[in-house]
Amino acid sequence: MRKPVLLTPGPTQVPEEVLASASLPIMHHRTPQFEAIFEEAAENLKYIFQTENPVIMLTSSGTGALESSVINLCSPGDKVIAVNGGKFGERWIELCKAFHLDLVEISIPWHRTVKPEEIEKALKENPDAKVVFTTLSETSSGGVTDIESIAKITRTSPALLVVDAVSGLGVTPLYTDKWGVDVVVSGSQKGFMLPPGLGFITMNERAQKAMESSTLPKYYFDLKKAYKNHAKNTTPWTPAISIIVQLNIALRMMKEEGIENIFTRHHKLSEAIREGVKALGLTLYNEDTGDCCIAVNVPDGVDGGKIVKLARDKYQVTFAGGQGDLKGKIFRISAMGNVGPNDVILGLATIERTLAELGYSFEKGKGISAAICSLSK
Ligand SMILES: *Cc1c(COP(=O)(O)O)cnc(C)c1O
Repeated sequence: MRKPVLLTPGPTQVPEEVLASASLPIMHHRTPQFEAIFEEAAENLKYIFQTENPVIMLTSSGTGALESSVINLCSPGDKVIAVNGGKFGERWIELCKAFHLDLVEISIPWHRTVKPEEIEKALKENPDAKVVFTTLSETSSGGVTDIESIAKITRTSPALLVVDAVSGLGVTPLYTDKWGVDVVVSGSQKGFMLPPGLGFITMNERAQKAMESSTLPKYYFDLKKAYKNHAKNTTPWTPAISIIVQLNIALRMMKEEGIENIFTRHHKLSEAIREGVKALGLTLYNEDTGDCCIAVNVPDGVDGGKIVKLARDKYQVTFAGGQGDLKGKIFRISAMGNVGPNDVILGLATIERTLAELGYSFEKGKGISAAICSLSK
């Protein structure tokens, strides 16, 4: 069997040295040996999150970390603002509704991201809002939100800014402390190049204060317990020990590469993908397209569902299809995580072979050639 290639916005490819570390015997977590690994990982997480505050590790997928932000910041009936501009914005909406919060929804079309003025207006109309829930990279649509400008607004308002950076962290710039973002949430299986299973959350002083007075019910995701344990390099419950061991290896690699270099690499590879698909006559879905995932409109006359299926089953290259209303209308390619130029060229080659087979007409080789030119810039 040939090695499958993942060009999806999560889960992403895991480097071999990270994969290998999971095959070591299970360590006990209440030991100085594990605590040393935890301590190193916790320190390096702060670097990737660009914060001086602790980054809490949760054993859950990213959604568990999203939920923990809601239940640890809010109390019953609190007014909150959430942006709905894609599948993951929708998740904030569903979470706020699940906990019966007084929700103000900013609903925007999926082909763009929220404008800072829209947040400003919502805050002006709702000065009693406690939290604004947003998404850095809206993975379903390929849009990257201008969090820096939004944080300038929330920083001087009483409302806390919570950013879902599950697919954006370690991929596209997010400077938590410098920008004044109150809460950042992420997960293991995207930019961190790890298997799924860990959620991350960091809170600044303002947010930790809100946590102290939050009264929504919680138990497993009670972050007050997590903070207490974190200070002693441990967790309240049995953590995903093997993934934390892997996290430590992945973080060492990320730190060695350097956060700015990581952003530059994702940008270069994403540019090559964009140049490649455009050279084939294809168009991008999102007007605020970023470097986390590139959503491409399915050309007229082609069955969108078949592109992803054929690429995966015949060529062992996995792309992502569209979600919700975008099913069959877009496909998504991502250079997120452990992806290099060769993967991108292979990805373009696979798009060409797949589209040719599905009857789309274009000049063969043009996409690959544009990608190679872009990579050598
Ligand atoms: C992947 C992702 C999540 C979390 O999904 P899980 O399946 O729970 O890990 C949340 N938000 C965004 C933007 C994502 O891309």
